[in-house]
Amino acid sequence: MKVLVLNSGSSSLKFQLIDSETEDVLAKGQCDRIGLDGGNFAYKGKEKYKKDIQMADHSVALKILFDALTNPESGAIKSVDEIDAIGHRVVHGGEKYSDPVLLDEKALKDIDDLSALAPLHNPANALGIKACMEITKAPQVAVFDTAFHQTMPKHAYMYALPYKYYEENGVRRYGFHGTSHKFITKEALEWLKKDYGVKPEDSKIITCHLGNGSSIAAVKGGKVIDTTMGLTPEPGLIMGTRAGDVDPSAITFIEAKHNISPEEMDKILNKKSGLLGISGKSSDMRDIIEGMGNGDERCKLTYDMLVYSIKKFIGAYAAAMNGVDAIVFTGGIGENSEPVRRGVLTNMEFLGVHLDPEKNKVMGERADLTTDNSGKALVIPTNEELMIALETVSVVTGK
Ligand code: ADP
Repeated sequence: MKVLVLNSGSSSLKFQLIDSETEDVLAKGQCDRIGLDGGNFAYKGKEKYKKDIQMADHSVALKILFDALTNPESGAIKSVDEIDAIGHRVVHGGEKYSDPVLLDEKALKDIDDLSALAPLHNPANALGIKACMEITKAPQVAVFDTAFHQTMPKHAYMYALPYKYYEENGVRRYGFHGTSHKFITKEALEWLKKDYGVKPEDSKIITCHLGNGSSIAAVKGGKVIDTTMGLTPEPGLIMGTRAGDVDPSAITFIEAKHNISPEEMDKILNKKSGLLGISGKSSDMRDIIEGMGNGDERCKLTYDMLVYSIKKFIGAYAAAMNGVDAIVFTGGIGENSEPVRRGVLTNMEFLGVHLDPEKNKVMGERADLTTDNSGKALVIPTNEELMIALETVSVVTGK
């Protein structure tokens, strides 16, 4: 099947057209600055180009995208009817959606209603879905970032706040990056079964998605039992510009000391903290490593804090599962950063993990990073778009 995978932001629309049988990407690109001045469209298929074009809203952006896909010279298909299904990345599925869902008016309303929990994302996702409903009759599926984490037991997802906030407002841990954690879990379990005889139902793995946003999940028997992100994608690890775990009273303390509103504080926690906040230099891990190499102490502290926060969660999740068969790395940092993986995996012998420094030099490819008789640490590049395409096919075909 040919599946169009869409990731709609408030002013952007990223797409990939994927052949689900061959797993080939037939075309991809993105519309940027929708509804703003300076809009532009980037396309990569038979030809690669970028053009400036105003897009009043998501419907206009989608029409431009469909025109590009069906362009006789540079397009990937002859007619829009060749698109068998559309898969949408949707950030929040709440407690209702533990699996992808075929979209209809009711599911769309649910996504809109969940905007209270993801005000920056769900309204934008809903815009993309509505625009598609207006333009095409192809079946559409929502694939939720939170869904894979819905198997967490209640003692892992509850916060020790007054119970009414859970009952009345749905305040609990949901977790994010679920599509990525699911993809690398699927790949890791196949690998561990084939090469190491680990039965998927008995498996214990820790999946580390380390990118601009980062999260870790404990996956037992193929099901998430805990994850580092929470009600929002803010807690857990230190990220590019997000703080990760902070004493909640430190937040109210800073607000009072500096006369900062909750909205401003939220911006500080989301956009000015993390690698950027500590280093004072950059949110990009490559810059932090470079700064550290040049003797910058704040960059060194940033690196040490990131590595330590990852290590701590791996230890916690190994305890939660009574062991671990494999630690799996993905995302821009997880797939590429030799120093970060080295920092995390050094002094992990108590878990039976012995790093092979040569193998750890790998970048952007599947690899086993450990010595022969070691517990496993793997790199598996993520592919969220492919996962969304495969889930979409599964919902549409019922298989
Ligand atoms: P997103 O979460 O936005 O999808 P990515 O998964 O692309 O982000 O990850 C971006 C992060 O990956 C950045 O911090 C970047 O510095 C880091 N990264 C990419 N390549 C490397 C590399 N070679 N070494 C270290 N970090 C890298």
